[in-house]
Amino acid sequence: MNYDLVIIGAGPAGLSFACSLRNSGLNIAVIEKQSRQLLADPPIDGRDIALTHLSRKLMQQQGIWGRIDPGEISPIQRAEVIDGDSPYTLAFDTPSDNTDALGFLISNFRIRKAIFEEFDSLETVTLIDNTEVSRVSTDDRGVTVTLASGDPIKASMIVAADTRFSASRRQMGISSDAHDFGRTAIVCWMEHQQSHHQTAFECFHYERTLAVLPMSGNLSSIVITAATDQAETILDMKQTSFNQDIEKRLNGRLGTMKQKGKRYPYPLVGVHANRFFTRRFALIGDAAVGMHPVTAHGFNLGLSGQDLLADEMSTAISQGRDFWHPTVLARYQQQHMLSTRPLYHGTNSIVSLFTNDSLPATLLRKAVLRLSNNLPPVKWVITQKLMAKNQVKLKLPALLDRYTRVA
Ligand SMILES: Cc1cc2nc3c(=O)[nH]c(=O)nc-3n(C[C@H](O)[C@H](O)[C@H](O)COP(=O)(O)OP(=O)(O)OC[C@H]3O[C@@H](n4cnc5c(N)ncnc54)[C@H](O)[C@@H]3O)c2cc1C
Repeated sequence: MNYDLVIIGAGPAGLSFACSLRNSGLNIAVIEKQSRQLLADPPIDGRDIALTHLSRKLMQQQGIWGRIDPGEISPIQRAEVIDGDSPYTLAFDTPSDNTDALGFLISNFRIRKAIFEEFDSLETVTLIDNTEVSRVSTDDRGVTVTLASGDPIKASMIVAADTRFSASRRQMGISSDAHDFGRTAIVCWMEHQQSHHQTAFECFHYERTLAVLPMSGNLSSIVITAATDQAETILDMKQTSFNQDIEKRLNGRLGTMKQKGKRYPYPLVGVHANRFFTRRFALIGDAAVGMHPVTAHGFNLGLSGQDLLADEMSTAISQGRDFWHPTVLARYQQQHMLSTRPLYHGTNSIVSLFTNDSLPATLLRKAVLRLSNNLPPVKWVITQKLMAKNQVKLKLPALLDRYTRVA
């Protein structure tokens, strides 16, 4: 089988990348371990995704946003960061300039369903489902993707969107910076007595963090992160004790709380690839950068990264250049790393500052909250990251033309 491009992984990054290339003229195959049926009707996984304005714009452009019932899109109008039992909060409000929200919360299974519907309407892509990639290799003439069955697929280029533990990334010799936080996120939905008024809460308690994100009506998405050796205890807690515990950690802000559905565990490992491409091979989504969920950037970065790569490849095609050329891929890497590096390391620093109970860390945490609250530029920078609607695109052709060496 021969294609122009093989995408490994039909998660949100892989599928939206295929959608972004719909007018490129490329003959594309997407290879996925899971079945088409599971992709078309993904089960609830307890994950709710906070989306930025840029993500909304990209999803609108791709025809994905319109496939989600507006009643399932919950605007986040205010965010409060709470430090332990201190009454002091760092608060972010939606600016009063006709902006509708700081961001938007949508359940992961609904986003995945909408992306798959859009992907499934494309005529230029082939989905090879129920199929695992076991090996990838590239040379100057093209690429070979070997399936678990032993069958080879030939193409001009591979784009890997095969999770933060990407096997193809390792096979291609791309190193990464990985950080095992030794912590697990436990997510679920909870109904509450009082309205959340579209407010997201991030509560940093001593041994745990608790994020409460507003869904439709009096329902919130709960994300607890705790040391992995405590995760089982939290997962096994009786429902009444669990309800009371969350109510207490929120200082009764939302009145009585009641869990709805199941609790789901996610062990937390952050990964940042040290480069996003090598010969005829590029990384997108979590395979490029897998973030800790506390700053809610993983999916957003995946979406903006695939858009940058698709844009560079489409430009090359329209100018009659090779879409897999190292210059094209280097341009993508340069632009994407501009956002991923600071966000990845910044998020990891926030996690260590807010989960460290030593006296210096506690004092520094209090100072950071007060500084952020009282210094308008700090708040502005954080709010802009959520609300910026356009990609930051660099114009560095001369520099990049020399940057074509492939490791
Ligand atoms: C609790 C939690 C909360 C989160 N909240 C947010 C949030 O609020 N905002 C945000 O922006 N992000 C959030 N994220 C992050 C977000 O969920 C991920 O960044 C996103 O789902 C990654 O998408 P992806 O397509 O890159 O990878 P994945 O969704 O992991 O998809 C990868 C696909 O590749 C397939 N695959 C892997 N290997 C192979 C192979 N060898 N052959 C064939 N197929 C293969 C897999 O089956 C899978 O379908 C959260 C994450 C968690 C855990």
